[in-house]
Amino acid sequence: MTHDFLSPLTGSFAMPAAENPTVVMIEAAYRHLGLTWRYLNCEVHPDRLGDAVRGARAMGWRGFNCSIPHKVAVIEHLDQLGESARIIGAVNTVVRRGDTMIGENTDGKGFVTALNQVVDPAGKSVLIFGAGGAARAVAVELALAGVSRIVIVNRGHERGEALTNLLLRQTPADAAYTRWSGMFQIPADTDIVVNATSVGLFPNVDQMLDIDPDTLRAEMVVADGIHNPPLTHLLRSARARGCRVVDGLGMLVNQGVIGIRYWTGLDADAQVMRQALLNLKL
Ligand code: NDP
Repeated sequence: MTHDFLSPLTGSFAMPAAENPTVVMIEAAYRHLGLTWRYLNCEVHPDRLGDAVRGARAMGWRGFNCSIPHKVAVIEHLDQLGESARIIGAVNTVVRRGDTMIGENTDGKGFVTALNQVVDPAGKSVLIFGAGGAARAVAVELALAGVSRIVIVNRGHERGEALTNLLLRQTPADAAYTRWSGMFQIPADTDIVVNATSVGLFPNVDQMLDIDPDTLRAEMVVADGIHNPPLTHLLRSARARGCRVVDGLGMLVNQGVIGIRYWTGLDADAQVMRQALLNLKL
């Protein structure tokens, strides 16, 4: 009997890396698919990112994820970019095709996949809190998925306006910026509300967006990018008012499903991956 002791390699480059749980859900998916593939969680200093990418090429890695602080800096080390990664200007998933390293962004794609399980965003009016990296990825992908209008609500006007202008210039969606100062009233004509800020992230689990919770209406779908904890203060408030909710764990898991499809061509089981994360009791 012949043996194959060479595992196809994938992984993540980030700094810090120790608290990134992605390895747990991706390796659970590989095992469930019966693959001998590995996913290595690597801490890479920003000064060594080029070396890390050259190392991945040299060792024949099939691809890797990039997290903070490498999502923009990695681009200069790649050969091509997918459409949304080009518009967003950031890469979180790298795919090797032959000798070509292609940068993709699955942050927003994972979000839209999770959202689609509750509502089709096409033609809807969306309000997004935040204008950082997560908001940018989510907003661009929602625009490409056919939402009619996106309102960006952010404290800092420079980032808010920059994201709004990006949407207006590079996507088919209508977009507007609203400055966030004081308790925010969500307009009644909003279909989907998204928290793409870091408000509510562990350990600040009881932190709530500065919004009037009574402006959350039962007809609205409320989505949170925060995956830890999965049920944020915002989602609890939204549920209490009858809204349908989408948690950040769905975004994270579906990013993983899309990444595994890019690398292996196979569809991983999202439920297995979600359960692997829930078992960690983050
Ligand atoms: P950034 O630092 O790029 O942006 C942070 C955003 O949050 C900015 O818009 C900032 O506003 C806003 N913000 C921070 N604190 C407050 C506050 N107290 N009140 C109002 N707004 C605030 O971070 P990212 O965009 O990269 O990440 C944001 C969150 O998204 C993170 O918590 C991360 O966990 C989550 N995320 C989740 C993913 C998933 O798969 N579930 C994937 C990627 C990210 P301002 O510009 O005014 O400072």
